[in-house]
Amino acid sequence: MVSSYDTRGQITRRFQIVIQINTIPEILDFSLNPAAARTGHFKLPRAILVERNWNRLHLVGSVIMADKSTIEWTDTTWNPVTGCTKISAGCDNCYAARFSERFRGVPGHPFQNGFDLTVRPERLLQPLDWKKPRMIFVNSMSDLFHKAVPKAHIARVFDTMERADWHIYQILTKRSSLLQKFINDRYKERPAPPHIWFGVSVENEQATTRVTHLQKANAAVRFLSVEPLIGPVGKLNLRNV
Ligand code: SF4
Repeated sequence: MVSSYDTRGQITRRFQIVIQINTIPEILDFSLNPAAARTGHFKLPRAILVERNWNRLHLVGSVIMADKSTIEWTDTTWNPVTGCTKISAGCDNCYAARFSERFRGVPGHPFQNGFDLTVRPERLLQPLDWKKPRMIFVNSMSDLFHKAVPKAHIARVFDTMERADWHIYQILTKRSSLLQKFINDRYKERPAPPHIWFGVSVENEQATTRVTHLQKANAAVRFLSVEPLIGPVGKLNLRNV
């Protein structure tokens, strides 16, 4: 019996695990690694959830467990970068930071380096493997436009999003000026494709300048995330959002 935790670290459900798969070493590793079991980041790298009820979980084949999101406005998270640094008051209670730091130093864990910014080229092509259309939250555990993320890596993220155009991608940032610059450099002649949505977080009135950057970005679809709402935001100009 293990506990299942969501990305905010809350227990979602307790499972008995039944695994029908041929990767015995990983299964042993999983069963012996309480930290991995606690988070649902199984050492078993790929497994398909084929049956789930209140007591049993069957895994066969290959899907990364973490690709199902508990966030209500998306289907899946995709993290070609993890880790970040705090930039404004809205970061004070960053769940990604809290979650990641819990596993700093756990050998083999995806967050063994905690919330240190980590570029993950091995994840760049993941959306191409997902054949059914999904709503994908890009970088739920980071900020794609963090100044330490190489521009070439961001460009490769966009290459994948343009190729796997049957999905909808939701990119949310607090680094709105860097978003504006990147988008306007990449999409000079025409707006970014409509299956790539761009959003900024607005937590108080100081953060409303991000809306202006978003409006100046050559995007087809723009959105706001007005949370955590830690102060009045005043009158928001929602033109083209
Ligand atoms: S920008 Fe986002 S991911 Fe980065 S520290 Fe702030 S809330 Fe967390």
